[in-house]
Amino acid sequence: MAAFVLRSAPALLLSGMALASCVAASTTPRTGARASTPPGPALPMSPSACPPRDTMVRLDGVARQGGVLRGQLLRGGVALSLDGRAVPLTADRAFVIAFDRDAPATATLGVTLERGCGAFDVPLSVAPANWDIQSVNASITGGVSSAEFQARRAPELESIAAARARMTPGSSEGWRQAFVWPVVARISGRFGSQRIYRGTPGSYHSGVDLAAPAGTIYVAPADGVVILAASTPYTLEGNLLLIDHGMGLNSAFLHSQRLLVKAGEVVRRGQPIGMVGATGRATGPHLHWGMKWQDARIDPITLVDAADPPR
Ligand SMILES: [Zn+2]
Repeated sequence: MAAFVLRSAPALLLSGMALASCVAASTTPRTGARASTPPGPALPMSPSACPPRDTMVRLDGVARQGGVLRGQLLRGGVALSLDGRAVPLTADRAFVIAFDRDAPATATLGVTLERGCGAFDVPLSVAPANWDIQSVNASITGGVSSAEFQARRAPELESIAAARARMTPGSSEGWRQAFVWPVVARISGRFGSQRIYRGTPGSYHSGVDLAAPAGTIYVAPADGVVILAASTPYTLEGNLLLIDHGMGLNSAFLHSQRLLVKAGEVVRRGQPIGMVGATGRATGPHLHWGMKWQDARIDPITLVDAADPPR
């Protein structure tokens, strides 16, 4: 991780984080109008006016495929982007970013400074993940979906998109928390796993499956706001529940037998929110927990305490 300088910064740590990495060694100026800005950690010509760049972004952890990074812009930073897309900031300039299961090996954080002090880019290396990919000697199943399926599916997808559009960065502080497992159960399916059928890749598994008996109560893994609680089962997801944890981070819970919350409700970490079931396309009772940050699909396991396994 040549782009990082790892250092202890106890006074600046977010809660629960052991190490903070301050971006330092390899900042690059934006091309275009500000291309003449000197690169790297050198102070601007008027040091009293502009903040130093070398410690402007603090990241807690390492960028990796399917993973989440929390961080902080220090005083003097006013805007942040990831690969050109705006990243919401809290009033104290904290943020969360995440990397899709198939994120490329590099990403770019764009930092804008206050008072006309310019903007600069911070390259990030995104560590590859070792997804469970298996080749099987079988034909891919599923195939072309029927017109009847499409007719049912279209409004379902619309309602999911509408629910996600209702997410707001400041809806919840849940994104700052250490997540808990929604249910204590055996992991029967891992995020990112995929089968290749005689050379044709099937779609990868978009969440973690927890094999609990039907009727088992599951809880909110972190604080949030319910943005969708299906009143009738969806074709694939069954009784779908979507929770906005704030700052673009959200959870989806699939196949529930019953939901215990309604759209618009505020939920707290550990609060019962549903009962495990097998509604929708499920071969048996289990809880499928999927997570997204904006459009990036992420592995929920990266957000829960590794020392607290669900079995
Ligand atoms: Zn699943």
